[in-house]
Amino acid sequence: MFKLAIDAGHYLKTAGRRVSKKFDSNQTREWVLNDRVARYIAQYAGDYPIEILRVDDTTGKTLVGLQARCDRANRWEADFYLSVHHNGGIAGGKGGGIVAYGYKKPFTYRDELYNACVAATGLRGNRAKPLVSKGFHVLKHTGMMGVLMEYGFMDSATDAPVILTEEYAQKVAKATLEAIVRVAGLEKKKEDCCNVEVRILKNGASGADVRAMQLLLAANGCKGKMDEKKYGSFGSKTEAAVKQYQKKMGLEADGVCGGKTWGALLGVTG
Ligand SMILES: [Zn+2]
Repeated sequence: MFKLAIDAGHYLKTAGRRVSKKFDSNQTREWVLNDRVARYIAQYAGDYPIEILRVDDTTGKTLVGLQARCDRANRWEADFYLSVHHNGGIAGGKGGGIVAYGYKKPFTYRDELYNACVAATGLRGNRAKPLVSKGFHVLKHTGMMGVLMEYGFMDSATDAPVILTEEYAQKVAKATLEAIVRVAGLEKKKEDCCNVEVRILKNGASGADVRAMQLLLAANGCKGKMDEKKYGSFGSKTEAAVKQYQKKMGLEADGVCGGKTWGALLGVTG
């Protein structure tokens, strides 16, 4: 399992960290936006072999200090640290956009996360430098690779209306998670499946798997002299049919249905 430590920056009551009043009468707190993105990331991570640890307080009520966040991630031996933020800006500067911070080289994660989020939302960073190498506490004092994302400016006329929407949170969460998955080389968990156990079958065997093998042999034009009424038991006629199929497939014609023969019959090899 890939261990992903996430912190929603700040906490519910951090002073000043909120969306400008002119864009949002509720003056939504930064932590609320950060928490929402973090939750979507955790939700989407369910499709992958990823474990999540939130290192801030998920109720937002208490402020977990920066070093405590690092300690939690370090103790847990996380593989990656993601710090989720929205930019406070300087009260209405021009433009806005997403900014990604990395500290440890190489900056593959930082750049991939940034590119993926911009591609998903169009919120290209045009106020600040969009790709930054800076030693924020949580990036400097964690032992694993990490990125601090600022998902848009809370004081920007362009960004504020967008970053307040649920849809935006979903888009950046999905883009972020998928970029992490790509860089880490993770694969989606397999869909729910029905497992069928098959044995190595040879002359003398009987059972449902023998019958399944015989049906597959026949479907592949290797029925030979097998009698459908006797499907379920493996005799010399079945052995001949297995050999016929093995020759046809370029496999060793030993008349035993083992891994390679099963693989060919089920279409899961080659
Ligand atoms: Zn912040």
